[in-house]
Amino acid sequence: MSKYINKAIGEFKERIRKEKVSLFLDYDGTLTPIVGRHEKARLSYLMKELLRKLKRSYPVAVISGRGLDDLQEKVGIDGVVYAGNHGLEIYSEEMSFRIKGASRIKTALNQITMDLEPIIEGIKGVIVENKGLTASIHYRLVDRRETPRLIEVVKEKLSPYIEEGKVRITEGKKVIEIRPPVDWDKGKAVKWILRRGGFKGTMPVYIGDDETDRDAFKVLKGCGISIVVGHRWQDTDYFLKGQDEVSGFLKWFGLSLDSRYINCRNSCSDYYAGDP
Ligand SMILES: [Mg+2]
Repeated sequence: MSKYINKAIGEFKERIRKEKVSLFLDYDGTLTPIVGRHEKARLSYLMKELLRKLKRSYPVAVISGRGLDDLQEKVGIDGVVYAGNHGLEIYSEEMSFRIKGASRIKTALNQITMDLEPIIEGIKGVIVENKGLTASIHYRLVDRRETPRLIEVVKEKLSPYIEEGKVRITEGKKVIEIRPPVDWDKGKAVKWILRRGGFKGTMPVYIGDDETDRDAFKVLKGCGISIVVGHRWQDTDYFLKGQDEVSGFLKWFGLSLDSRYINCRNSCSDYYAGDP
């Protein structure tokens, strides 16, 4: 059962006491509040300063469904690992990854987003965002009475592509994600990162708020620590009550922990075999 971390801070501290810790942070709903227009989700000055400080002591990765360029631009801190499009593309000064078949995926997504345009034209507030390797259909601004119809027509339109194995879809907070049919997600991206650079041999602490973060939470079982924001999911170690508690937790993290320990007992990289 997930515990409220602010009430279990002693236990948390004990768990990481002898570990070299790395941080994996989701962006929307974790580092920033969820906003009506996704392009307006900006890091606060405080959060940016916190990340800069944390990065000096810990390897830090920001992992998001946003496109890589968008994510880099929004966070804008050197020395951080950026994992965009749910980890389909990863970049930092010391590592870089792009899922195989990226150009084929892009071509298919261009076609699909073009096909979707006419059917959603009449629905006010819907935003289709083509992020290269994935696409998002945002419906946060759509009238609630219209959303069932929107979801239905989008699924109907996409069903031939899904049947042909060209794409798969996942749902997040007021967003439908169109993703390539590859066996790759935030969890696999976390494992990939953990085998590289300063992340090798670290104990990952992952904070995220959305369905897509569950893939990462799963891989951290027994070898890392998962913290979910705004939910009390059974399958995570801890939870924070809302996004407004994230900065307080990170501040405590930056102030009170000593990252000089490099004694790693049960790193996730130990059991990961094989690259994609
Ligand atoms: Mg999120």
